[in-house]
Amino acid sequence: MSKENRKFIKTTCPRDCYDACGMVAAVDDGQVRKVLGDPDHHVAKGVLCGKCAIAYNGVWRQPDRRLTQPLKRVGKKGEAAFEPISWDEALETVAGRLKPLLEEKRNETIVHAHYTGTVGLIAGWYPLRFFSHIGATEIDPDTVCNKAGHVALEYTVGDSLDGFDPETAKDAATILVWGANPSHSAPHMHKAWLRDRSANIVVIDPVATNTALDVARTHLQLRPGTDAALAFGLLHVAKSHQLLDRVFIQSNVKGFDEIEAAIDVSDPETTAELTGLPAEKIIEVGLAYAKGPSMIWMGQGMQRTSRGGNAFRAILALVAGTGQMGKPGTGFCYMNGPGTRGIDMDSATASQIAQDGQSVSHMDMADTLENAEQSQAFFTWNCNPLASSPDQTRLRKALEREDLFTVACDVFPTDTVAYADIVLPAASFLEFNDIVAPYFHHTLSAQVKIQEAPGEALPNQEIFRRLASKLELEEPLLFESDEVLLSRILAMTSYEGDFATLSEAGTVQLFDEPRMQFPDGFATPSGKIEIASAAAEADGLPRVPEPHADKPTEGGRLRIVSPASKWQMNSSYANDPGIQEQIGAIALHLHPQDAEARNLSTGDVATLTNEAGELPVTIDVSEIAQPGMGVVYKGRWPNAEPSASNINVLHKGAKSDIGEATCVHSLEAELVTREAAE
Ligand code: SF4
Repeated sequence: MSKENRKFIKTTCPRDCYDACGMVAAVDDGQVRKVLGDPDHHVAKGVLCGKCAIAYNGVWRQPDRRLTQPLKRVGKKGEAAFEPISWDEALETVAGRLKPLLEEKRNETIVHAHYTGTVGLIAGWYPLRFFSHIGATEIDPDTVCNKAGHVALEYTVGDSLDGFDPETAKDAATILVWGANPSHSAPHMHKAWLRDRSANIVVIDPVATNTALDVARTHLQLRPGTDAALAFGLLHVAKSHQLLDRVFIQSNVKGFDEIEAAIDVSDPETTAELTGLPAEKIIEVGLAYAKGPSMIWMGQGMQRTSRGGNAFRAILALVAGTGQMGKPGTGFCYMNGPGTRGIDMDSATASQIAQDGQSVSHMDMADTLENAEQSQAFFTWNCNPLASSPDQTRLRKALEREDLFTVACDVFPTDTVAYADIVLPAASFLEFNDIVAPYFHHTLSAQVKIQEAPGEALPNQEIFRRLASKLELEEPLLFESDEVLLSRILAMTSYEGDFATLSEAGTVQLFDEPRMQFPDGFATPSGKIEIASAAAEADGLPRVPEPHADKPTEGGRLRIVSPASKWQMNSSYANDPGIQEQIGAIALHLHPQDAEARNLSTGDVATLTNEAGELPVTIDVSEIAQPGMGVVYKGRWPNAEPSASNINVLHKGAKSDIGEATCVHSLEAELVTREAAE
């Protein structure tokens, strides 16, 4: 190793994270010595988050913890007993199992699950070409996460991927952070974008998150599942103080009159009763928001409930009714998709070569995989369903099916990999070029190769090119090179350089002035914000949002929410010893009242149990939870736990009201203490 030859190479963190940090790798003679935050990056400012600082300098750079060779199963499913094979043998074996299914036109029994192991535009999306071209069944990725919110926004404004420009926040007097916890999920935004701002920050969250405690002037710690009732309560405050924007409504909103009666009955006292919030706080926040300019950061937490889609539609009614859109310092943001920068994702996914294929909700994944009529082959890539998907016990059982040919494509030996017949080792983001389109800022970033992949690992896209070749598929778009893709993606944006210049810069701003939200209007049938939605009605949903509030739990059951931990990004990093040291045993954060009622103290062991399964937990008495509610952070790998399970063992796969999406935050369970069990 020679420091004389040390190079510093810029790249980008492609995790499923709002921050999309610029990074710098110190590389000696082709070997990465340290991965750091890029001091020039507008978000990272030289510092990675704690989890990435540990894991990118831990398991991500330890070849002995990686998958480095193709493998074939030699033991029972789940034992993770494999022996190395060549790429040729691995792909021949996979092709040999797929060919008869394709020839017999049973392509829909080839099922694939994927998600955001990387959000690089090529590695995260290109493999979809292969699966859509052969007509495989897709486990709809967003159903495990944010689909209810996406569909609700599509009904209402036509597009869920066009949010406010964060650069306009300097003009906002009030910012509602609703159902998001940037202190864990966007740590740099928490520190710089929120904490260092003079605006009135209001956090709306059932959990006392670090964002609520650290940056909020007001924390509305509402009962879980009561967000829609609160949105109507805030609208009532606006209406009773003549702060509805009738001019905006007249020009831009369809069907607002259909919710006026529901607004009229959502007075502060009624809303206080439904949400558990003080009436005076509802009035205070309602006035501040309606006076504006106000922005709403719409997080993913509130839509993972049984009426989460309705909650999103209700919040959009608040935005529309008060006219907090279309002016600097206003608007809402769920996320900003690549389209805000001109990127058509078809350039990666090539939908023109897709056959009609079906898609199945993650909530039905266990059903699908336990049924031989529906699934003969299963691919998992960019995700670890045994950690992330619901109905964990049934899913594990389904993956034990001897007649289900399972292929896992991953960087690490995950829980799901242990059930594979064939394992295909994937290169990590440090080992190939890609482009990242951050989903908060309208910037563009280069993910740059800084080292060779260990052993024989290959980027996702190359694995599926080679598999297409083994299957003797002839469609040219299945074989496009990374270079062609990178150039095409860049050509769609306003960036005038090439990938080499983007790599030197790391991240570039694409707009001189803050971008207006919905510059071309709303892509709804009426061209307006549709509070009354015929599309929703045609899908069997209420025509307008309703002031719904979930009822408090009964019979001593706890409502369990499972938000993102500070130390993990979805299920990434749970295999790093440094991260495992930080997260400790599975904790149930329990309000002091609930702990006292059960005679429990911090450190006691108990079991959460419901109709789906049971989960041993260590009690942490903490006021981050409210009475009647427990907090268990998500993302742990079952194979790293003594119980071989995580919070998803309690999740039966119940669906939210919209989009067949998860309602994991509506989960209820009993807490059984050792004393009670005896
Ligand atoms: S996970 Fe997020 S905060 Fe952490 S380094 Fe990556 S982009 Fe930055």
